Amino acid sequence: MKRDFSPQEWEAASLLARALGGVDQLVFPENPIKILIIKQRSGNIGEKVGYVSSEDSTDGEERYNIYAYGIDRYLEAIIKRSQKVVVMFDDQGRMVELEDLPLLTLKVLVIGTAAHEVRHRLQGYRRIRMFGPADADNETLSPRTRAHIGLRKRFPASEQRDPAREFDAKVIELLAEEICYEEGDLKENMANLLLNKD
Ligand SMILES: [Zn+2]
Repeated sequence: MKRDFSPQEWEAASLLARALGGVDQLVFPENPIKILIIKQRSGNIGEKVGYVSSEDSTDGEERYNIYAYGIDRYLEAIIKRSQKVVVMFDDQGRMVELEDLPLLTLKVLVIGTAAHEVRHRLQGYRRIRMFGPADADNETLSPRTRAHIGLRKRFPASEQRDPAREFDAKVIELLAEEICYEEGDLKENMANLLLNKD
């Protein structure tokens, strides 16, 4: 199996799998689910990692899918993009301080992605307060996250099956990235974040 992947694809996919497994275990310690690393491309354009609910799963078992085809180049491209100077505006058109925009590292990107997918699993399990466009004014969030929310509000992502859930998971992804940058108790903070606990 392993030899079907390039070493770089395998390394990137297993890094993601470890992050996903770690975050999933934090939030669902009793019931962590399977992670499949799949060689081919996903049927959905651009999708490299996805949570699959039991209803959507062919064998009735929920799981996470990681599509390894080109995943190393995909992650690299995201990191490169983040290293360009980006000027962001919040919902009121104010420029967000550039020092609030740390560069992505591979570790931060992978943890953010894992938090995003585990959040999708949580969305189907319990009533959580989902983040939405109104959180552009949520003062408890960082300027960076509020600016992202403002941008998404103005330019909603198209072709999403469930835009409200995608919006919420994206906000969690950004917040998880921030936890990663602060040298706090990553484990505890991450679980509290995903469960909307203070
Ligand atoms: Zn998503």
